[in-house]
Amino acid sequence: MKPSSYREQALKILPWICTRCAREFNGKRVRELTVHHKDGNHDHNPADGSNWELLCIYCHENEHARVEDAKAAKSGSEPERKAATHRPLEGLAELLKKKG
Ligand SMILES: [Zn+2]
Ligand SMILES: [Zn+2]
Repeated sequence: MKPSSYREQALKILPWICTRCAREFNGKRVRELTVHHKDGNHDHNPADGSNWELLCIYCHENEHARVEDAKAAKSGSEPERKAATHRPLEGLAELLKKKG
């Protein structure tokens, strides 16, 4: 799917109503309706629209401001990923040395 075509697809299968403020859009005003990705991943575009929400530009901005606030609130609480220390090929190299 082309990166820009998910909007067309979303408008095809979803009602032209802002999910937040319930305003209806039609004709030229549909330009004010934007596609929001529920999981925040713009590359996640299932054809059934399960990751899409149609929001007017105002509600869309609010929605993202809300998400940013939530992110900021819990920043620092993410546990750091431990680097993998196990190197399976190292043992193999030792084995080959002994053989030679
Ligand atoms: Zn709205
Ligand atoms: Zn969005």
